[in-house]
Amino acid sequence: MSDALQAIIARAAATQPLTIAQYMELALQHPEYGYYRRHDPLGARGDFITAPEISQTFGELIGLWCVDMWDKLGRPDPFTLCELGPGRGTLMRDALRAAGTMPAFTTACRVVLVESNVDLRTAQGAALADYQPQWLEEPDALPMRPALVIANEFFDALPIRQYIRREDDWYENCISCVAGKLQWAAVRVAVPVAAGMPAAAPGAIVEVSVAATNIMRDLSRHLAAHGGAMLAIDYGYDAAPGSPTFQALARHNYADPLRDPGQADLTAHVDFGALAATAREQGMQVWPLVTQGDFLRALGIDARCAQLVARATPAQRDALLAAHRRLTDSVQMGTLFKVFCVTPSDDPVPAGWE
Ligand code: SAH
Repeated sequence: MSDALQAIIARAAATQPLTIAQYMELALQHPEYGYYRRHDPLGARGDFITAPEISQTFGELIGLWCVDMWDKLGRPDPFTLCELGPGRGTLMRDALRAAGTMPAFTTACRVVLVESNVDLRTAQGAALADYQPQWLEEPDALPMRPALVIANEFFDALPIRQYIRREDDWYENCISCVAGKLQWAAVRVAVPVAAGMPAAAPGAIVEVSVAATNIMRDLSRHLAAHGGAMLAIDYGYDAAPGSPTFQALARHNYADPLRDPGQADLTAHVDFGALAATAREQGMQVWPLVTQGDFLRALGIDARCAQLVARATPAQRDALLAAHRRLTDSVQMGTLFKVFCVTPSDDPVPAGWE
């Protein structure tokens, strides 16, 4: 399978250098061989592990965040509870279980999942059978009603392009194929690059995701017209770091992104500053970026963990405490991961920002 995708990519790149976005599109989303179209990449036997797979408390607290927001919005009925890239459905399942303490929320809620991976859709269907989810290919077709939108480690999977500022001009980092081997090629960019390119000193490398901007614009328009809120959690930054973040992860290790396309997860850190600018253009309110550690502590993760520990066996206890540290500790996910929240400008203050 990887040979077939490798040949498809090599043929395309031999004709003309591919942008990283085109390369990611093929490697991740090729209908037959793309990384996100086939297998389940999550978990110990996959390539990476995510917060909801580490601890049930993650999804539970997000579920309670949704209940609180829904209550503050005047309890719209019906409303959409949408997740972008729901993986195995674990976050949503934990969120809905915790939200079950408020039956009116569950009754009013219509679950909508945006997912491109067929295997994961099956897993999500099994995890969420009680809630009859509806699937969408793209988040631009949400039903016309208020929506709470959740995205954990979704935006990092979207294609980016990478530009290099040199003394004389901008160049784009592209991928060419020479003698059957994929390699990097810096291509001079004749026209002004993407809209909103930051001023950059020579040597800086800037990453831009048109796909992320488009999704943010669509969601902002939806929330502005119908009400609701969006919460996105991911590794990323507010101000462009000036260095590349495009990376490959295979079996829990960093890998060469040009080796074995379709066999590794390809991601880039999320440019939350660019998402914020796009949301503001649509008149949305963007809440200050907070770290995952601070956000989870504000929602009560310490108390929830203590509650689980109190009725656990000694072995479970160690696992619970390790998972808690992994999610919140600043040397683990606590600081690297950020929480980004967008609401219409007249929405009340979301939990975590009070
Ligand atoms: N949110 C989950 C999974 C994160 S992995 C968790 O935290 O465990 C990224 C998820 O986004 C996967 O479900 C993947 O299949 C999905 N995905 C990636 N690119 C996508 C795209 N362009 N459209 C829809 N879903 C996508």
